Amino acid sequence: MFVGHYAAAFAGKAVAPKAPMWTLAIGCQLIDVGWSVFVMTGVEHGRADPALPGSTLVLYDMPWTHSLPAALVWSIAAAALVKLLLRLPVWASVVVGLSVFSHWLLDLVVHRPDLELWPGGERVGFALWNYPVPEQAVEMGLLAVCGAAWVASRKSLGRAAWPAVALIGFYVALQIAAMLMPPPPGELGLDTGATVLLAYLVAAAAAALTGIEGKRALATAVE
Ligand SMILES: [Zn+2]
Repeated sequence: MFVGHYAAAFAGKAVAPKAPMWTLAIGCQLIDVGWSVFVMTGVEHGRADPALPGSTLVLYDMPWTHSLPAALVWSIAAAALVKLLLRLPVWASVVVGLSVFSHWLLDLVVHRPDLELWPGGERVGFALWNYPVPEQAVEMGLLAVCGAAWVASRKSLGRAAWPAVALIGFYVALQIAAMLMPPPPGELGLDTGATVLLAYLVAAAAAALTGIEGKRALATAVE
């Protein structure tokens, strides 16, 4: 799952308009942002197996980002950080934390069993990756449904719909670009980590653009 994770950011923005879109866009991928840095630095490991259907990733070592306790720690830390550093309201901070945890839940649906319930413990994953067409349908469906909720919420705040629609379109384009890229060869390292990190930063920057106008609308938004 790549852009399907942003469905959680859209849903989060719909229920907590005071959470800046960029915090939710980083939040829903924060666990993978950490993973990309850890893969680059050799803290976590994975490899690609071109024989696999759907995603070719074999993620055999990622206890610090994708184990259940690690995901909980990242989620709580993110909520605390946006509360302290950005002074977001409590509800908006909680929703940013939930957006972080949504990553693990959506990974649980698509990953092959590589998510540890505790470091070194049992590994879970429902392996929707093995069925590439339904997997893509789930990602696009989530994006469409949650994107529609976000657009409706913007309209109720008197904000233009088009920046949201443009962002959703951009994410679909990113997904297509990712599918057309050749799978990484063998052991994952600097190249893969840097590519993934860059994609998430570009996606977050694009999300930030949708928040440029409308500070006044936010002032009247419910928390
Ligand atoms: Zn992940």
